[in-house]
Amino acid sequence: MIESIPAKQILQKVKFENTRWFGIDYNMNLYRGCPHGCIYCDSRSTIYNIENFDQVRYKENVIEILSKELRSKRKKGVVGIGAMSDTYNPFEKELCITKRALNLLAENHFGVSIDTKSSLVVRDIPILQKIKTNNSAIVKLTITTANDELSKKIEPNVNPSSERFEAVKELNDAGIFCGILLTPMLPFLTDNKDEIRAIVEKAHKANAKFIYCMYGVTMRSGQREFFYKHLKNISPELVLKYQRLYGLNYLCSIPNKDYCETLFKEECRRYGILTDMKDIVKAYKRSESYTQMKFF
Ligand code: SF4
Repeated sequence: MIESIPAKQILQKVKFENTRWFGIDYNMNLYRGCPHGCIYCDSRSTIYNIENFDQVRYKENVIEILSKELRSKRKKGVVGIGAMSDTYNPFEKELCITKRALNLLAENHFGVSIDTKSSLVVRDIPILQKIKTNNSAIVKLTITTANDELSKKIEPNVNPSSERFEAVKELNDAGIFCGILLTPMLPFLTDNKDEIRAIVEKAHKANAKFIYCMYGVTMRSGQREFFYKHLKNISPELVLKYQRLYGLNYLCSIPNKDYCETLFKEECRRYGILTDMKDIVKAYKRSESYTQMKFF
């Protein structure tokens, strides 16, 4: 049974330069909390103050509030969904809050930038195609390992990596600009040549347009304890290694960053997969400027 929470505001204008994170102008989270259980999840950090993070809740009157907000904005833009909570949680299948929100974006000529780990996103391909006729649409499937067994351990309650690659293919085949978020790359676990090569090759087979990589993992209070508790089941030695190397650091970069970055970029270049944020933003927004040029 899913609970609800009151909401006042849904759309938030982003404060940073919009080329920094996939060219988004606004952010929205339609749900609070996330049941996907990723062991490295940053959103469960205590600084965000989300009680019972694993229990997802929907925001009351979210569609009515969003509708009003979209109509009141003078500047159209791209709305990011999925920063703090995966918007395609298991309840979305029945509640269709994300689906209805996407329809509103289409009707009001806003663009969208979706982050998810769930294959349910393919259900909304027809709406994404509609959004693309007046603005831009980009979908990012987070895939942190090419190995289904490992993905089941580190991201236990969502589709395994192989199903996410299939979703990437389906979206790209339908003309939606789609790629992969390789975030985080976990030190001593996924920062190796076999993983990097396998992810890039599978991304290529799925026609992924880009892979955006973060060479390490962030670690904050609340998040750290949860991560270590679950990492211990994979390898107790790894926990000790992390504790020795990173202590209470926020940013835990992979120790072999130069090697991994060079290999990753070489592999992507070989297949024509974009890796640079500016290039990705330019490429997916091209259709928007094309529509505007046609208009003039
Ligand atoms: S899908 Fe995202 S928000 Fe949900 S648990 Fe995983 S990392 Fe956290």
